[in-house]
Amino acid sequence: MTKMSKITDFLDGVNVIGMAGHIRPDGDCVGSCLGLYTYLKNNFPDKEIDLYLEEIPDKFDNLKYASEIINDTSADKHYDLFITLDASDLERIGGAVKYFNNADKTLCIDHHVSNKGFADTNIIEPESSSACETLFFLLDEDKINVDVATDLYLGIIHDSGVFKYSCTSLRTMTTAGKLMEKGIPFTDIIDDTFYTKTYVQNQIMGRALMESVLFYEGQCIFSVVKSDEFEFYNITSKDLDGIVEQLRITKGVEVAIFLYQTNELEYKISLRSKNKVDVSAIASYFGGGGHVRAAGCTMHGTVYDVINNISERLALQLD
Ligand code: AMP
Ligand code: MN
Ligand code: MN
Repeated sequence: MTKMSKITDFLDGVNVIGMAGHIRPDGDCVGSCLGLYTYLKNNFPDKEIDLYLEEIPDKFDNLKYASEIINDTSADKHYDLFITLDASDLERIGGAVKYFNNADKTLCIDHHVSNKGFADTNIIEPESSSACETLFFLLDEDKINVDVATDLYLGIIHDSGVFKYSCTSLRTMTTAGKLMEKGIPFTDIIDDTFYTKTYVQNQIMGRALMESVLFYEGQCIFSVVKSDEFEFYNITSKDLDGIVEQLRITKGVEVAIFLYQTNELEYKISLRSKNKVDVSAIASYFGGGGHVRAAGCTMHGTVYDVINNISERLALQLD
């Protein structure tokens, strides 16, 4: 499939469309899913479209049609076309996988280097900042309204860290510029969804930073949030955004590792690197995936086991 294909190429004879993004939806996932959902509703009002996502962070609730997202995947339904966005493998779309497997046609739109292409048609651009940037080129620019532009801009700023990560390119900037011209409230999108933290989100970040540990002569840093802290602060994993990024910008650090407990002996791991370590390779080794400078996985054992196992893989890449 060439990059010149458009979303309309996939709509011939298609009346019922299903869509899903990855579990624990982030800004790019929510932005790309709602962006495409809104675009299709605006321009193809006769089609029936369902969007499946796990519960999204509150800060995205004001996006157009956010209230139409379906969290429950228990119902049976057949789709003529099923589209995945920002999901690097089928396990990442959670319960919606049954709709994908039963659909007549499937389409995957993604930018993860670890994505092997699991759909009938796969549009995967590992060099793209975000699924939203890739999606932009599948849409007809004239048919993108301010709501769609808001969603796409939001996804781009979240996955590029407001245009600072190495995934940011000339194309990222020109795309963002074109979206700005649609009249989006770009300052509010960045402040309200990226930088603003609630009081408890600041508290848990402060605690995670205070208890962080440097190792490998200051080249690596890790911190962990345990289940009892979730209870104490009355928070969920959605309140931990930004912690790994704050760890990453610790002076002298090449790799930041952030863990949060998901079960008795189970942790969700976020990995970030600055200049040289390929954290996607480490996350993939432990069954996860992601990008060269930002990746994740789930691991089992004690915190000590997890850090030890990651350290062994890190040692292979550090001086
Ligand atoms: P996170 O640390 O959860 O923000 O994720 C960083 C990047 O790695 C994102 O692009 C995720 O999509 C990807 N990622 C995180 N966890 C996993 C996983 N278990 N499997 C595959 N990719 C993941
Ligand atoms: Mn994502
Ligand atoms: Mn993404």
